[in-house]
Amino acid sequence: MDIDQLAEKIIEGGTRNAAVSGAGMSVESGVAPFRGKGGLWEKMDPMKVAHIDAFREDPVPYWEMRGPFIKSLETIDPNPGHAALARLQREGRLGTIITQNIDGLHEAAGSTDVIEFHGSVRTLRCMDCSRKIPSRSACLDDRPPRCACGGVLRPDVVFFGEAIPPEALVRSQQIASDCPVMLVVGTSAVVQPAASIPVIARRAGALVVEINPERTPLTDQVVDVFLEGWSGEVLPALAEAVRRASC
Ligand code: NAD
Ligand code: ZN
Repeated sequence: MDIDQLAEKIIEGGTRNAAVSGAGMSVESGVAPFRGKGGLWEKMDPMKVAHIDAFREDPVPYWEMRGPFIKSLETIDPNPGHAALARLQREGRLGTIITQNIDGLHEAAGSTDVIEFHGSVRTLRCMDCSRKIPSRSACLDDRPPRCACGGVLRPDVVFFGEAIPPEALVRSQQIASDCPVMLVVGTSAVVQPAASIPVIARRAGALVVEINPERTPLTDQVVDVFLEGWSGEVLPALAEAVRRASC
């Protein structure tokens, strides 16, 4: 299937189409992924620092690793890939974006219908009193940052060892079961249960389109169209093909 045929399918599917995005989506904004070239796992094992048991025992290594990243988000911008998905949504060619990313860049690009499957570091939560505060209003240079009550603050994300909030999981599964086209962007598809979402879509009859510079376990398993490349280049080209096909 070429890009113009794919554009026709996207137009037919309209707002029932869905997207799943992963860390690769934000690489062109300067955010390091976990796996792949330049990934955080080349430097450390996030399972050891970003596991809830490790955080409860000692939150300092986590905050040393993630504090600068969370702080840097104040100056990091969405890239043309985020903008292209937001444009497809605005034009009624895409419904929900299910993102594994915790960086809030889809919303920053103007996307409104976003399921943050793993939560967001833009909000922090107190381990003691559960109060939530915007991360920009916390003292992120403290190791660890603390709530007004003295409790340790954690980002409002799903740590390793924690479950996905049931409403995010159930809604994502429902969307996957009913989408004519699913775009799978920048995920290595090894983190469960997020990696099962495209599998559910394919089994329910969706056309699964993968956008990634590298092949993943999904590529041979469920992908119908593999668009090899960077999301910041492929997605704007796809959005443009959809616009051309709409005229
Ligand atoms: P991953 O780090 O495991 O894999 C990144 C994938 O993106 C790889 O398949 C890689 O080939 C691909 N990629 C790299 N550059 C790309 C580009 N320019 N365009 C398209 N694809 C590109 O990512 P994952 O599967 O999302 O799993 C990582 C987990 O870690 C997620 O659960 C997420 O919550 C978290 N995480 C989030 C961020 C973020 O919010 N930006 C960053 C790192 C990790
Ligand atoms: Zn508190």
